[in-house]
Amino acid sequence: MARYIGPVCRLCRREAMKLFLKGERCYTEKCAIEKRNFAPGQHGKTRKAKLAGYGLQLREKQKVKRIYGVLEDQFRHYFETAERTRGITGETLLQMLERRLDNVVYRLGLSTSRPQARQLVRHGHFLINGKKVDIPSYSVKAGDVVTVLGRTQKNVTIEHALEEVKGRGIPEWLSFDAASMSGRVVSMPTRAQINLPVQEQLIVELYSK
Ligand code: SF4
Repeated sequence: MARYIGPVCRLCRREAMKLFLKGERCYTEKCAIEKRNFAPGQHGKTRKAKLAGYGLQLREKQKVKRIYGVLEDQFRHYFETAERTRGITGETLLQMLERRLDNVVYRLGLSTSRPQARQLVRHGHFLINGKKVDIPSYSVKAGDVVTVLGRTQKNVTIEHALEEVKGRGIPEWLSFDAASMSGRVVSMPTRAQINLPVQEQLIVELYSK
């Protein structure tokens, strides 16, 4: 599956907020948002557009896509599925994105960022219910157990990430057992448990035009 491979700090500057795409660096003063919090490009510093209507809706969609590392086609597919599902479309959309395996790995604290989680999943470091899964978009369900592969349990990247997560915390819909290096999907995430500063309703309005 295709993914964005350009400079990621630029994405945060475009959205004027931290999207936490670079792991530890995002929490330091080296973060581009701390140093240059203006839009990228030649006129980024001077152009201060007041967003309304379509512009606002578009930015909200781009923000969510970038946080989860999903490109347009795949994002639209998520939206269409959410629209067909019973419930509030915006919330269902976020729930589907949150259930992606790369996001779950990140939320469990096994990586310092979602892009890093995606790479670890791609390299086959995780089992779901005892079976190896290397698809970042794999959708977990309640009761699933995500385990770090035996040989990976001493992986420096993962050990380091686990140290870092002590400050970040694990959401209520997940639990983690350090002894067995496994996480459990306790329940499906509710909107209140998805800690994201986004207005998903604007995305629904954008796609409903
Ligand atoms: Fe975004 Fe992290 Fe880069 Fe800061 S360091 S701009 S939060 S990706």
